Amino acid sequence: MPALVASRRLVRALCLVLALTSLACAGQPPALAADKPLRIGVLAFLGTEAAVVEWTPVLRRLQAALPGYAHTLVQLDHDGLQAAARGGELDFIITNPGHYVELEAALGASRILTLDVGGGRVPERALGSVVIVPRASPLRALEDLPGHRLAIVDRDGFGGYQLVWGELDRLGIAPESALAALREVGFPMDGVVDALDGGQADAGVLRSCLLETHPDWAARFRVLSPRAEPGFPCATSTRLYPDWPLATLRHTPPELARAVAIALLGMRHEQDGLAWAVPADYQAVHELFRRLEIGPYAYLRAPTLMVLAERYWPWVAGFALLIVGWIAYTVRVEHLVQTRTAALRAALAEREAMEARMRGAQEQAEHMSRLSVLGELSGTLAHELNQPLAAIANYANSLVRRADNQRLTEAAVREAAGEIAGQAERAAGILGRIRAFARKRTASRETVAPRELVDEAATLFRGMLAHAPAVGIDEALPPGTLIEVDRLQIQQVLLNLLKNAWDASRAQPLERQRIDIRLDTDADRLRIAVRDYGSGLEPAARERLFESFFTTKADGLGLGLSICRSIAEAHGGRLSAEPPAASADFGNAGALFILSLPLHQPPPGHTTAHLAPEQP
Ligand code: ADP
Repeated sequence: MPALVASRRLVRALCLVLALTSLACAGQPPALAADKPLRIGVLAFLGTEAAVVEWTPVLRRLQAALPGYAHTLVQLDHDGLQAAARGGELDFIITNPGHYVELEAALGASRILTLDVGGGRVPERALGSVVIVPRASPLRALEDLPGHRLAIVDRDGFGGYQLVWGELDRLGIAPESALAALREVGFPMDGVVDALDGGQADAGVLRSCLLETHPDWAARFRVLSPRAEPGFPCATSTRLYPDWPLATLRHTPPELARAVAIALLGMRHEQDGLAWAVPADYQAVHELFRRLEIGPYAYLRAPTLMVLAERYWPWVAGFALLIVGWIAYTVRVEHLVQTRTAALRAALAEREAMEARMRGAQEQAEHMSRLSVLGELSGTLAHELNQPLAAIANYANSLVRRADNQRLTEAAVREAAGEIAGQAERAAGILGRIRAFARKRTASRETVAPRELVDEAATLFRGMLAHAPAVGIDEALPPGTLIEVDRLQIQQVLLNLLKNAWDASRAQPLERQRIDIRLDTDADRLRIAVRDYGSGLEPAARERLFESFFTTKADGLGLGLSICRSIAEAHGGRLSAEPPAASADFGNAGALFILSLPLHQPPPGHTTAHLAPEQP
């Protein structure tokens, strides 16, 4: 590559002085300052010297035909020629067909003549490329080139690499990727031959008819895929294209173009070494460039999405895989979340249903337990009710008797009716409390004074027994002590403890049939201690007291204490049996049960009126 660039620079440096030098050499008078300029740019492709030799007849012809002009023939490389044409420094250009097609599109170049080099080559089919290999090479055809090194002048060469590229493309071979190397040797074209001789390439590309200038070529080289082109005098591996055109540019005056065309059409091979013909059809060049997507068709190479996808397919595929993976992962996670959420919801619903069932069962059990306590106590209830009923009957009978004896005074009626009403109220009170206790209901919490609850339980207990034992209540609570409880449930616990105490002391002498209740606090807890002086607890019974269905009584259910404990725990409290302290009268006989409950903490700054306990 550096060699190529250097050669291009050299061409540019030399070319501007060429015309005048050549004229001087030819002995022509230099142009006068008043002469109109006639500037022709020529693509230098064989190296400067060769071009001078080749185009000098053209210059001479024009000078002879158009004497009023200052004739300049400038040799430039590919880019230099284009830049000079664009800059308005040229009136005509002579270049290869590929470059012409580019300038046609870019700068409006328009061919007026096509070179006719003669020697059996017609202008329409004058240019081809030949691919040669050393005679001993195993390569036979263009199809054999993949994997081998190819020497070319440069990638822009039309009568060189581009024509071969077109043929390879037709064979489905992309030279840039299929060949082991594309070696650009630069001008002059004979460098390709040197590369083959030096072993730097396996095959080389030359413009057709250049090979034949080497006298011993057939002994040294072989042509790959030689084509039979009728009438074409040289070897070629590609199809043939029209020869170089001479073209005007947009600003070229038409009369000058006509004059130049007429002058050059008059050139003869015998006399000038070359001739010009009417312009050939360059459509085949257009088609080649369109196929290769180069020159004016380079825009076809613009990276469309498809092309980009083809070029970067491993990245695109990787990225697509990543996206697909990510989507799959997200969908899976979402699916798992949905499934687990549904499972969790179902489990939660199941738990709630179970809790509801348990609550129902608990309420049912509590209710049963209350009925059971009542059942046991109500054996004596009939006896208890008997008393007011008997009193009512007595008063009623006495009224009847007094009426029979004519001794019924208004005062006697008033007294008897008052007594009857009093006894009836007493009986109704007993029944009302029992009904309230026995009714089925759902749990509800309220804030109450502990003493109030204890009094109610004691009243109910005593109300149901004919010979109720003495129940002493000793309160040592700070004023305003409150608890937040289900009133009926706590009453149920207390009634159970009282009934158990009575059961344990019934068989004892009368003085030991006593129950003491003490209310006090321990830190933030209320303690209600129920002490009796009965049979006490056997060590074995103490272990199992709170087990369901543990009973030592013939008609016992064994549910009372276990339900009482669960009620205490549901209130954040405890129910336990403690060793009783020694009493002055009966030592440490009997049993001691302690119900502890959390104290109600009113919100800061809030005061609650303390309800005065109702005396039994
Ligand atoms: P039940 O009264 O139907 O037997 P509980 O659960 O209320 O069921 O009582 C279980 C057992 O605990 C009683 O059978 C009894 O042996 C014992 N027990 C409960 N309270 C006392 C007590 N104050 N004194 C002695 N034993 C008691």
